[in-house]
Amino acid sequence: MRPLLFIILLVAVVNSATAQDKKVEFTSFQLSETVYMLKGSGGNVGISTGQDGLYIIDDQVRPVTSQLLQAIQKISDSPIRFVINTHYHGDHVGGNEAIGGTGTVIIAHDNIRKRMSSEQVSIFRNSTTPAYTKEALPVMTFNDQMSLHLNGETATAYYVANGHTDGDSIIHFPASNVIHMGDMYFNGLYPYVDLDAGGSIQGMITAADLALTMADESTHIIPGHGPLATVEELKTYRDFLKKARANVQTLIDQHMTLAQVIAAKPTVQWDEELGKTWITPAQFVTFIYNSLKAIHHYTPATAAETGTK
Ligand SMILES: [Zn+2]
Repeated sequence: MRPLLFIILLVAVVNSATAQDKKVEFTSFQLSETVYMLKGSGGNVGISTGQDGLYIIDDQVRPVTSQLLQAIQKISDSPIRFVINTHYHGDHVGGNEAIGGTGTVIIAHDNIRKRMSSEQVSIFRNSTTPAYTKEALPVMTFNDQMSLHLNGETATAYYVANGHTDGDSIIHFPASNVIHMGDMYFNGLYPYVDLDAGGSIQGMITAADLALTMADESTHIIPGHGPLATVEELKTYRDFLKKARANVQTLIDQHMTLAQVIAAKPTVQWDEELGKTWITPAQFVTFIYNSLKAIHHYTPATAAETGTK
């Protein structure tokens, strides 16, 4: 028993060292005098820095936290006063524990704190995420909207119910003319709609509609994933979501099962462009179908594709 245990421990240490040491390339984009977007490993980070200090939106995956902090320091060496989390997924709150433990105030929607405080089960990912430590939890929560009055502008987080999850906000910087969409917007790939955590296609569309009411032609749109976007690209994305939803609804109206809807390929016109990176066409169709049928969990794609229940 002893030699075996030793080997397992050694492998565990090596694995964790590899994850910690993996070098990530960070790229920053200055969008206004005070607002930046930072790309690294996980959801895109928003940064506001200026006369009143520094705050950020989302903090990527846990293993890259020290590299993320170094990348932020290249933009500003001020301490981080606030973190706003757009939603609870690990690629957006991974740095919370290390950053929250240093006195930075973490702000998020009520449902983010609720989900991070308890074990979460995802059928889609076939995974269980344990509750986060106290340091990682948002200490200031809101139920509708919240504003920060710093660096010469009032940035407002707007909660949009049941979109990517049941806890997403989009953040508007009106003076900088920037909107951070969190994972309500995946630019260049099919979006993940986390049905297991209260997500729905309807809420995704509501979020895109809301952002478009606040945008003009020169607004910078920060997506949760993918490259920085223009308003035109966000409009195209919103129209695509609406058309895809309508296509699936037409097939539901013909009393088709999920397997039949997937087989009918209602998203075929976008599959090549959006369905190759992560979320597959069958998975995306399942997100829409279940949203429209008010099925509040993911249906495993394999069962759907084979037509079994
Ligand atoms: Zn997410």
